Amino acid sequence: MSQSEGGDEAPRLATQAIHAGEALDPTTGAATANLVMSTSFVAEQPFGFSVNAFEGELPYFYSRWGNPTVAALEQKLAALEQAEAGLAFASGMGAIAGLMFTELSAGDHLIISEVCYPGTAELVRETLSRFAVEVSAVDCSDLAAISAARRSNTRLIWVETPANPILRLTDIAAVAQLAKAHDIRLAVDSTFATPVATRPLTLGADYVVHSLTKYIGGHGDALGGMVLGRRVDIERLRAKALVHQGAVLSPFNAWLIGRGAATLPIRMAAHASNAMAVATFLERHRAVARVLYPGLASHPQHALALQQMENTSGMLAFRLHADGSAFAAQFARSLETIHYAVSLGHHRSLLYWIDTDGLLADSYQLDSAAAEAYREIAGDGVFRMSVGLEDPVDLCRDLDRVLSSDGAD
Ligand SMILES: *Cc1c(COP(=O)(O)O)cnc(C)c1O
Repeated sequence: MSQSEGGDEAPRLATQAIHAGEALDPTTGAATANLVMSTSFVAEQPFGFSVNAFEGELPYFYSRWGNPTVAALEQKLAALEQAEAGLAFASGMGAIAGLMFTELSAGDHLIISEVCYPGTAELVRETLSRFAVEVSAVDCSDLAAISAARRSNTRLIWVETPANPILRLTDIAAVAQLAKAHDIRLAVDSTFATPVATRPLTLGADYVVHSLTKYIGGHGDALGGMVLGRRVDIERLRAKALVHQGAVLSPFNAWLIGRGAATLPIRMAAHASNAMAVATFLERHRAVARVLYPGLASHPQHALALQQMENTSGMLAFRLHADGSAFAAQFARSLETIHYAVSLGHHRSLLYWIDTDGLLADSYQLDSAAAEAYREIAGDGVFRMSVGLEDPVDLCRDLDRVLSSDGAD
């Protein structure tokens, strides 16, 4: 049963977002979560120095192993994702690298969505390959393509849904079924969806990954990442990926992100309704050739969006009839409310031009058929917009001022 429908006695998502992971300070009764900046913790008795000496849950010992403020955030997110446990990292890429370098060994094969966050694509192609991990990048919206890419040594399938930057969706339950049948693990980068929209673990995924920098923190002031899944997997990840690789989340960032996460459900509702208003405006605009937004009936996977997403999030992409790069310069110069900037999920709206040639050459390096398929959707490039929490009337006015110009000075 989905969490937003409520189970038996389990608190609903909006309640969990505020209360999960938080307890009154037993000493002072402070109602707001404490910020514990300490790097070390006094031991009640001498114990070993290596993480390998511990079984089960680690004690507070040194903040690279675990920290109470970070643990509170891990528990909050675990409640939202209906996960047994979560593990925070210094950034989304820290979480992604930590998981990949723990799950994959030399000789293993990875299947990854060919359209995804550029940092992930570059890490896999440039670095995993140096460690003799075989990689197939395929269109993960196509179950047959995943099936065809499968090898006897396939260990992990990595999907991102909705995928950056064209908002392509992957049917998580269907891929999970395929993965399980062949003893392959499934990781889902759910940064664009958030647990308000989709809870991949309840659909059969083994891991869900987030850049906390985006919607979960929600205010553009703290980098962070998280991996969530079964407790046994997460504790192994803590020992191998966190304690030894060291991309630890600062307690201060955990505290900021936890404060942001408390309002995630109401922010996501506003992001989605604002995005729907902006997407509808763009779809009717004569300068706009195509809008990609899972909430629009015109999205090629709108039916899957309705089935898999309880909230269609605030991310959209659009293409113009005219030369996109000329308009990109005009947007950068002329936008007033919307910031011309990368990143996403902030209270402020952000817009950025994602040039197809650059993305294909620098990040994806797809074969010619896959590159052609990408170009079919994205043309010479898309404007990716993270629709913020401003009044959509002001956002549409800001966009219209540029779109109704000729794109030149
Ligand atoms: C931003 C992002 C990342 C990387 O997260 P950082 O916190 O910037 O390291 C990974 N995946 C997706 C989908 C993202 O949007």
